[in-house]
Amino acid sequence: VSSIRKNYKDVKKVLHKHDLTSFFNLSKYGFSPYRACEHGCLYCDGRAEKYYVEGEFDKDIIIRRNLPEILDLELSKIREKGFVCIGSGVSDPYQPVEEDELIMRKCAEILHKHSVPVVVMTKSALVLRDLDIWGEINRKSGFLLMMSCTWNNDEMRKKIEPHASSVEERISALTDFKDSGCFTGVLAMPFLPLISETEENMFQIAKMCKDSKVDFMMPGGLTLRPGVQKDIFFKHLTSHYPEYVSTYEKIYGENRQSGAPSAFWYDKMSFLYTKMSELSGVSSVIPHYIYRNKVAIFDEIFLILTTMKIIYDFKGITTSRLSKAISKYSEWIITEKKAINRSKKRRYEELDQLLMYMCQKNSMDTIIQNEKVSELIKKVVVERAVFNGVTGRLHQIAD
Ligand code: SF4
Repeated sequence: VSSIRKNYKDVKKVLHKHDLTSFFNLSKYGFSPYRACEHGCLYCDGRAEKYYVEGEFDKDIIIRRNLPEILDLELSKIREKGFVCIGSGVSDPYQPVEEDELIMRKCAEILHKHSVPVVVMTKSALVLRDLDIWGEINRKSGFLLMMSCTWNNDEMRKKIEPHASSVEERISALTDFKDSGCFTGVLAMPFLPLISETEENMFQIAKMCKDSKVDFMMPGGLTLRPGVQKDIFFKHLTSHYPEYVSTYEKIYGENRQSGAPSAFWYDKMSFLYTKMSELSGVSSVIPHYIYRNKVAIFDEIFLILTTMKIIYDFKGITTSRLSKAISKYSEWIITEKKAINRSKKRRYEELDQLLMYMCQKNSMDTIIQNEKVSELIKKVVVERAVFNGVTGRLHQIAD
């Protein structure tokens, strides 16, 4: 059992806002009730200098005591619709301290009051305690539980994620949320080269995801930023898995600032990620039906194009033209949003109306300069077609 030092802090601001909804976790708005994390996963990116987390990462926990009341104030003023995502790579919202502090419970009540769609990202089955409110939110505005899991047995998990919930507890939490009608997804990341990033483990995870009927399973590899994060991980690797050290040195020897592995490893793994999704029939990106009608249409389009690029990248299909179209589209949306932002009288809904007008006039191509992508956008905006994350194609459904 870990013993922690609690450090209470008052915050002035809670919500971080993104111009375009994140394809990774649907965040338009995001926040974390804690900083640092007693789960103490050995690979945690939150230890990296980039995040300036002070003290001992898994012992000195900052508790944002007044967060619920500031959240209430800020939610009453938001002008743009979208998901609120709770959790980050620097802290788990349901780490054990939440059991006594109840900040998440209070936030859930406030989010319910404001009828916003919510995403929670965690490695803890404590989220089940609040299933009553999350279930209510799901019926009102939408709720997605994203649980990370990269292990098919608890022995390996215990060494690497010592204070997070067991594999069994996580799967059972996902099942309970699914049974109550919520959307669920597995963040199958970070797979650790040679340890959990093995064909056998990955395919068993895919099977586990299929059996628990999750809506998606998003795979990803380990990043090791040079500095504290990489040093701590290598220290543990040397004591638990000395036989793998030399291969890790090859994979992470380039010391990229982002912590990304060398290209040879990425290519090898991307192939397995695609196979995981194809064999299990579980989408490797957040499916369109989860955010359809819950975010603005201009955000839906951004999410579809971005997730399409991820699927193609995994499959080794060239995406340079698609990438260009995505950046032209994003620049256009952000410029239009700035103009709306400057005037209190204007509303973000105008942007969806403009998008509809452009599609009806077949003018999207003048902005993104890509006929195929313009055609796809038109199908989603005008005909409300749905993008399928497994086949990578659009489908028509009756509303
Ligand atoms: S649960 Fe997440 S934030 Fe907490 S230590 Fe593990 S990886 Fe880091």
